Amino acid sequence: MKIHEYQGKEILKKFGVTVPRGIPCFSVDEAVKAAETLGGKVWVVKAQIHAGGRGKGGGVKVAKSLDEVKSYAGQILGMQLVTHQTGPAGQKVRRLLVEEGADIKKEYYVAALTDRASQKVAMMASSEGGMDIEEVAHKTPEKIIKVFVDPAAGLTDAQAKELADGIGVPAASQAQAIDTFKKLYTCYMETDASLAEINPMILEGNGNIKALDAKFNFDSNALYRHPEIVAYRDLDEEDADEIEASKYDLAYISLDGNIGCLVNGAGLAMATMDTIKLFGAEPANFLDVGGGATTEKVTEAFKIMLKNPKVKGILVNIFGGIMKCDTIATGVVTAARETHSVPLVVRMKGTNEDLGKKILAESGLPIISADSMAEAATKIVAAVK
Ligand code: GDP
Ligand code: MN
Repeated sequence: MKIHEYQGKEILKKFGVTVPRGIPCFSVDEAVKAAETLGGKVWVVKAQIHAGGRGKGGGVKVAKSLDEVKSYAGQILGMQLVTHQTGPAGQKVRRLLVEEGADIKKEYYVAALTDRASQKVAMMASSEGGMDIEEVAHKTPEKIIKVFVDPAAGLTDAQAKELADGIGVPAASQAQAIDTFKKLYTCYMETDASLAEINPMILEGNGNIKALDAKFNFDSNALYRHPEIVAYRDLDEEDADEIEASKYDLAYISLDGNIGCLVNGAGLAMATMDTIKLFGAEPANFLDVGGGATTEKVTEAFKIMLKNPKVKGILVNIFGGIMKCDTIATGVVTAARETHSVPLVVRMKGTNEDLGKKILAESGLPIISADSMAEAATKIVAAVK
């Protein structure tokens, strides 16, 4: 799960990381009032969407008067902000963050993340923070410093110093940088984040270290123990079909292809997508109906897949274990009758397989049956071409 920058900064602040004073706003009037409340002479008006690259897309503006705050807030609020992370359609801006301006002497990058290769938490930092960090990672990876944290020890002072030295934090600001790194690590661990990123972390003219941006991803499987984070959820930022699917406890992710997949088990769902690709087509979604799917759940899964106009065919691939093939077959038949039809290939193996196949065969629906994954993929790919 993702959250907005201003929410991320609330979390950072709770863990003792210094952030600029700022106020989230939902209208131009609120933005002007926020600037007045904050006082000072310089403000930053920032689009709040669940995607990075806002600065380059025109979603971050420095205002030097209340009039400018008003005009930038008016420009940004409601705009369709396109960044390298939103895709070409962009994302509509519905919230703003108005902050006191910062006196930036240097922009650094720092993040805590789950590093799958080492199976550890990695802390990464760079002297080249700011809006071009992707390019830095690509062209000059040596400018990104990594340390791997032993979970029993946590981020040690020595490691935090290694990062601070590595990115060239001046001596007078080292203690603050080290403190920020350690707090970021604690924050990452205690919130069950999978990513906690500060870009830029800045050195101010007066030598202070501050988090000027905050980006978090949280492990959805751990959200049950963080109601305060769940409260930050903003459904406007999420895919409508994925929200609908989550209501039925379906693990669903929209993709770009034209073959809908309905599978039980995440591993089998991944293998099914791979097989579709192997046979020359692209999956329209990832969908794991889980081990205990009911007829109702399967029907909803069908409806969600078919809402996508790109879907030209559906591949159902079920391994009947706890899930019985006849339950799926009943769901498939009900759903196929209720929803508009596209070619449908069903492969089922395992518990009550014969019963399931019988239900499909006797339904009178043009369901194509397949025995192996290869056969199923061949048939659905042929059907959509
Ligand atoms: P992102 O582009 O979505 O990552 O948005 P950021 O929050 O990182 O902002 C982009 C850039 O705007 C930063 O790298 C800074 O250079 C600049 N910026 C953000 N806040 C301030 C500020 O308070 N003062 C000034 N002068 N620049 C800022
Ligand atoms: Mn940023």
